[in-house]
Amino acid sequence: MSFLGRIFNRKPPGEELQVPPQPLPQRNDACWCGSRKKYKKCHLEADQRQLTRIREREQACSPVFG
Ligand SMILES: [Zn+2]
Repeated sequence: MSFLGRIFNRKPPGEELQVPPQPLPQRNDACWCGSRKKYKKCHLEADQRQLTRIREREQACSPVFG
């Protein structure tokens, strides 16, 4: 494998499905990621999206018939 190929095959850790910690911080609290920003200005939207995606995945796994 080429040198460039090795670099591009390495996945950055942020690419993984990151589950936000529970309980989530309040909107005006400091974000859980340690950025010292308010949660609503940092991970709030990303967490909502992530939780929606996780919920959708769980629903897709469970049977919906009947
Ligand atoms: Zn954050």
